[in-house]
Amino acid sequence: MSNSDCRDGILFVISAPSGAGKTSLCRELIDSFSDLRQSISFATRAKRGGEQDGVDYHFVSTDAFQKMIDQQQLVEWAEVHGNMYGTSLATLTVAAEGGTDLLLDIDCQGAAQLKKNYQQAVFIFILPPDYIELEKRLRGRGTDDEAVILRRMKNAEKEIPAARWYDYLVVNDDFESARQQLIAIVTAERCRSLRTANLLDKFTAKGDK
Ligand code: 5GP
Repeated sequence: MSNSDCRDGILFVISAPSGAGKTSLCRELIDSFSDLRQSISFATRAKRGGEQDGVDYHFVSTDAFQKMIDQQQLVEWAEVHGNMYGTSLATLTVAAEGGTDLLLDIDCQGAAQLKKNYQQAVFIFILPPDYIELEKRLRGRGTDDEAVILRRMKNAEKEIPAARWYDYLVVNDDFESARQQLIAIVTAERCRSLRTANLLDKFTAKGDK
């Protein structure tokens, strides 16, 4: 029996300010663990080039999203950069029933909502080395105009100081070190005794077998 045979699935929740490298680091984590799945959120924003419905997001209209809120189908939701994003209860239920570990790439508002009801989830915040480097990276992407960059920097100044309650802070200064730290967090969390207590069962009743 291994750790993963005897424990419930774990929710790994990752947040970061825009430009900290979260998307690439999440992709690396998914590639590093064959038994870690990305949670697919519902989103009202337009599909970007190369994105697929049901793979990157479940793309829905604002009306459909509002209906999901009204019917309490979402465990968390938030408005981010003018669009609505949320995680469905169904996604978490299917993962829990299958004992699957899920990676949730969600913003701080959504993470704070999850923290209230999912105390066993693991909350990880990715930090840039500093604000100067963050701005350099946002500008370096060449995808956003000046107003968008300034808005993202303003958001970062609000999000970063509020990240104190997360379980782990990972600084993405050197990408490879950040990747290794995230792998270490997932590996360690999977071994925590509070999740794997069943492993001890066969050792406690000495002489029973
Ligand atoms: P993007 O539109 O660039 O894919 O994502 C924008 C932001 O929305 C990112 O910070 C991402 O973490 C956040 N986001 C994506 N899915 C969810 C979700 O289900 N809930 C919340 N609260 N935020 C999400």
